[in-house]
Formats: sequence, C-alpha cells, structure tokens
Amino acid sequence: MRLVLLGPPGAGKGTLAGLLKEKLGIAHISTGDILREEMKNNTPLGREVKKYIETGELVPDQVVTKLIDNKFTRNDLADKGYMLDGFPRTEQQAKDLDKILQKLGKPLEYAVYLESSLPVIIKRLTGRRVCRNCGALYHIPNKPPKRKGICDECGGEIYQRADDNEETIKTRMDVYMQSTEPIIAFYQAQGKLKKVDADKDSREVQRILMKLFGA
Ligand code: ADP
Ligand code: AMP
Repeated sequence: MRLVLLGPPGAGKGTLAGLLKEKLGIAHISTGDILREEMKNNTPLGREVKKYIETGELVPDQVVTKLIDNKFTRNDLADKGYMLDGFPRTEQQAKDLDKILQKLGKPLEYAVYLESSLPVIIKRLTGRRVCRNCGALYHIPNKPPKRKGICDECGGEIYQRADDNEETIKTRMDVYMQSTEPIIAFYQAQGKLKKVDADKDSREVQRILMKLFGA
C-alpha cells in the first residue's frame, strides 16, 4: 500500500504509522524524524535545517523534496509500500511527489487525513515525549513510560522535543493552516482522500482505517 498521512502537528500521524507499520508491513518515512536525526548527528544538512525546525517554520521545499527523491530512488519503497508522514507539507511538495512517483510508475493510492480539533492537538503536543534512541512515543499524563524518563521499548532516554513548546506550537499551527491544509483539497480532487476522526483513540482510528482500506 502506498499512502501519505496528512493532518496537523499532533494529530497522531507518527502513532498511527507505528500501528499500521505492523499491520500492513510497510515502511514509515517521517521527514521530521529524518531531519531530527541529521540534527542529532550535526551533519551539514542538520545544521542547515536547525533554524527552521526550532522555530516551527518549514524547511525549504527543494531540501525536503530532494531527501524524499533520494529515498525513492535508492530503495524499493514504491514496490514494497510506504506511509509518508510529514511530507508533503506544501502544494509544491505534493506536485513534486506526484512527479517522483510518476517516474517510478507507482502512483500514490491514498491520502489519509487525520482530522483533529485544536484543544486535542494542543494537549497532545504539550504532553508528547519521545525516546531519543528508538523514537517510541509517549504522552504525559495519558501514556507515560513505566519508569520515569526511560523508554519501555529500548531503555533509551525520553525527552521533550524542543519544538513542542507553546510558542512554537502556535507557529507550527499557523504554518499548517497556511501551507499544508490546502493540500487536502489537492488530494480530494484526485479522489485519493480518506478522512478519519483522529480525536478518537489511536487503536480505534487504526480500526476505522483498516476497514476503509478493505484490509
Ligand atoms: P504527529 O505525528 O501527527 O505530530 P504523534 O503521533 O507524535 O503526532 O502524536 C502526538 C502525541 O499525541 C503523542 O504523545 C501521542 O502519544 C499522542 N497521541 C497520538 N494519537 C493519539 C490518539 N489517537 N489518542 C490519544 N493520544 C494520541
Ligand atoms: P514533524 O516531526 O513532522 O512535526 O516535523 C518537525 C519539523 O520538521 C517541522 O516543523 C518542519 O520544520 C520540518 N519538516 C518536516 N517535514 C517537512 C516538510 N515536508 N517540509 C518542510 N519542513 C518539514
């Protein structure tokens, strides 16, 4: 299956991808995770994108699109199936993705839109905690790790993302409304959009989607 996960920051794209990855056996590609890894390793790309990520602005289209293009060219993702999380984030990125996939002869099948309300998003983002080592997601107070600050999955250190603070969340929401929300209509026009109420529990969201996919 070949799909993109759409929705505001905190809608649960990463959480759902984690669940669907096991169910559907497809890859999860998160541009946010890739860029944070580059920052952690202090690579030239990491240094280039740091200022955008820390302030909640978008990294320039050509930088992220090149990253995705390389992933598709170097891997058999298009054959094996994937979920893109956090990409595309602008109409230009959506158009460029179509071109990349057209070259491979494997067009996108679904654009899954996780529709979520603002108060829910804010609670999710301010409570989000992430494992520095394996990326497992937690939430304070809803899904805390068993031992404070330590990942249940790998024993890694749990931290709060620098951009999950109230001021940056506000910028990210403004950026989302202005630049990313319009691509919902882009995929609707292509007949690929599947909308789901993402305020619901993540297992319930997963169940609804599996039904929509007929899987
Ligand atoms: P996104 O990838 O869309 O930014 P995440 O998957 O990282 O969002 O989720 C943000 C936070 O909300 C995490 O702490 C996660 O544990 C929590 N969360 C995600 N989906 C749900 C859900 N359906 N119900 C309750 N909490 C959720
Ligand atoms: P995320 O992990 O998806 O919340 O992304 C974190 C940050 O990474 C965003 O606020 C952007 O600064 C940057 N980013 C991730 N994906 C993209 C993208 N497709 N286009 C531009 N910037 C991105």
